[in-house]
Amino acid sequence: MNEADTEIIRSILAKANYSFVSMEEEADIIMLNTCAIRENAHRKVYGRVHEIHHKHNELNKLKKPNERNTPLIGILGCMATNLRSELLENRGLKIDFIAGPDSYKRLPELIRQASETGEKQFDVTLSEFETYSDVYPTRTKGVNAWIAVMRGCNNFCTFCVVPYTRGRERSRSVDNIIEEVKRLADSDYKQVTLLGQNVNSYRHENDDFADLIEAVSKVNGIERIRFTSPHPKDFPEKLLKVITQNPKACKHIHLPLQAGSNRILDLMNRTYTQEEYLKLVEKIRTLIPNVALTTDIIVGFPTETEEEFQETINVMQQVQFDSAFIFKYSQRKGTIASHKYSDDISDESKTERIMQLNELQKAISFKRNHAHVGQVMDVLVEEEQTKHSKQDFQGRTDGNKLVIFPAAGKTGEFVPIKITSATPHALKGHIVN
Ligand code: SAH
Ligand code: SF4
Repeated sequence: MNEADTEIIRSILAKANYSFVSMEEEADIIMLNTCAIRENAHRKVYGRVHEIHHKHNELNKLKKPNERNTPLIGILGCMATNLRSELLENRGLKIDFIAGPDSYKRLPELIRQASETGEKQFDVTLSEFETYSDVYPTRTKGVNAWIAVMRGCNNFCTFCVVPYTRGRERSRSVDNIIEEVKRLADSDYKQVTLLGQNVNSYRHENDDFADLIEAVSKVNGIERIRFTSPHPKDFPEKLLKVITQNPKACKHIHLPLQAGSNRILDLMNRTYTQEEYLKLVEKIRTLIPNVALTTDIIVGFPTETEEEFQETINVMQQVQFDSAFIFKYSQRKGTIASHKYSDDISDESKTERIMQLNELQKAISFKRNHAHVGQVMDVLVEEEQTKHSKQDFQGRTDGNKLVIFPAAGKTGEFVPIKITSATPHALKGHIVN
């Protein structure tokens, strides 16, 4: 979502006649688009602001006095909303302006005022209506385009800061989204990823998320539709049927579990039990036998016992996810959990638990990936090189698995790849004719 927001911000600033430089040293303004979801995201931002100042001080020492420049620094996004007072009052932190996720249209004004007055400017007001539906994001070329179709979240999971930093749920109209998808198809994008904090609670007038996927799938040129991040509570039969039957809807569902124990799920306010979650998995697998399932897990939520943690292991063993993002619980200011419970699981226990789960998941991911060896899979070429090799290409399967293969096809094309080996993170193979 932050990447998608950055594309919106670029578009707003370009309209206001700002241009972008490729080297940080050349910039007059530097903006950090931030995340507040976990403590380490937050620490990174403080580190980056100090690093930028340090670098410019060093550079200025080498320059003549009249050539010295110190860029304006802005903090954008969730951290801005969450930490407005801390950011404004922290004298050691030299920043010039702050804009929350619903205030990007005011950026040109905030920048101008900050530069004219030399005083810190901020706008972190949350809106019930802002969806940036009138801004066409400035994207970098590629195969996939992110489209923010809804914003905000009404769920109030007790650990999560999103409902406070991004405000209430609101959705764009189907027509407005389709207009954007058509432009994307005209610009040769092959895949769209529909985005929202809680994307499957999308609703605009009488249209729900299933209607939206159906409408997007009618746009010629767009071959694959993905979405993230959904909540398990919003998978009605109608949506599952669309994913099953519509060939453009990718057979990959991210289904954040968070924890296996019913007591912890209740304390988290996730609104489902282990049994309900497992039932949903069963239903999904019956309807879509080859579906790829991925998840998010939090270890060390306040008061989580070893036995309760074991329940998370049990669920992971039962479900056999294709991959999982596993996080240590991170207490966030303003959340319900931070008011009600102390962060009483030691960092050592959290580390121990996260290591156990990572080990387990690695073995499962390997097994799931290895099962594809021998199959021929439709791969959408994404890059004509990989991190490690200029000779190899990379792309993804419908189930979102990374595939590496000797040069074949072109970016944006589908190639049939025979899978010959697998690791926990990727598949390898070669084209078949
Ligand atoms: N809307 C999605 C999740 C979006 S946040 C959902 O409901 O599942 C992405 C992930 O970050 C969450 O699934 C959760 O696993 C993790 N996360 C959120 N808040 C966290 C916190 N305080 N500590 C650790 N992980 C957290
Ligand atoms: Fe946070 Fe997701 Fe829960 Fe919303 S549904 S509060 S974004 S974890």
